[in-house]
Parts: sequence; structure tokens; C-alpha cells
Amino acid sequence: MSGKALFLDRDGVVNIEIGYLHRVEEVRFLPGIFSLCRTAMRLGYRLVIVTNQSGIARGYYTEADFETLMFWMRGELRAQGVELDAVYYCPYHPEHGVGEYKREHEDRKPGAGMLLRAQREFGVSLADSVMVGDRCSDIAAANGAGLRQAFLIAGTEEAACTGRYLAVRELAEIEGWLEQNS
Ligand SMILES: [Mg+2]
Repeated sequence: MSGKALFLDRDGVVNIEIGYLHRVEEVRFLPGIFSLCRTAMRLGYRLVIVTNQSGIARGYYTEADFETLMFWMRGELRAQGVELDAVYYCPYHPEHGVGEYKREHEDRKPGAGMLLRAQREFGVSLADSVMVGDRCSDIAAANGAGLRQAFLIAGTEEAACTGRYLAVRELAEIEGWLEQNS
């Protein structure tokens, strides 16, 4: 296993964004996500989900609800030949958090905390790693951590993001890039 990772935001990348997703029955996987992940695995990338979960901070659902959903999601991915190496999430929000969840945190994207965690835990080389996101905060985290490449799935953000990235319409475009550049 080489030391590079494909970092995946969750909402809007792995599953279709519906806003504060927390029920299994509301999960719809993005077209092409299984194939992208299988290709990345074959090319030696670890698969790491990095997701802001302000719904936990806001009290819309609990960390246990999140864990339950992710246990199910990992099973669905496994059935498609995809094994996640890690799921990192940030349950904090500096303004809208309730109680202990109201705080700044380096993990919250655009912070790079979750990417640095993969570097510590798996020896991931950030300079060889790739991020897929649908928000400018994903791009900022990727740029801040010095990742090799960041991809923005077009559609969620209304305007362009600052920073260095490639905008794509479909996950298949990222799969093609990995094939050609790994
Ligand atoms: Mg997202």
C-alpha cells in the first residue's frame, strides 16, 4: 500500500446532498462513486471520508445517529467492492453549535485537521493525495494541506471558489484523471 489517499467529502460526493442527511432511507449514492472508489483502490489510494457534520452541532441528530448511518453506508460500499480506510467527521460549529459542540475546531473544513489526521494515522503523503468535494471549503482544506489535486463537483456552489482546483460535472472525469496521473 502506497501512502496516498483519495479524500472524499461525503454529502454531495458520496451521497446526493439533501441537507443534514441522517436517515438510511434518504441515502442516494452519486452516480459513479463506486467505480471511482474501486479505481482509486486499485491505483493504491486509501479511501478517507472527511465530512463536516454541523447537524450534530446543531442538535439535529447525534454522533450515534451518524455512526449508525456510516456503519450502514460502509456495508453498502463493501457490497460494491469498496472498503473505506477511515471516516473522519467534525461535529462542531463555531456559531450554531449547542453546548459542547459550539466551538471552533481545526477539523472543520476549510481547516485541514482531518487531512492531517490521515497523515498521522496512516502515513499518508499529502503531496500525493487527492480531494473530491462539492464546496469551496473542501477546496480550501485541500489547498491548505498541500494536496496534489482538488476536484470540485460543479452544482452545489453558485460561484467559483478561490484556490487551486479542477471543476468537474461527473465523478467519471475524476476517475479518468486518476487513471492518467497515478
Ligand atoms: Mg459536501
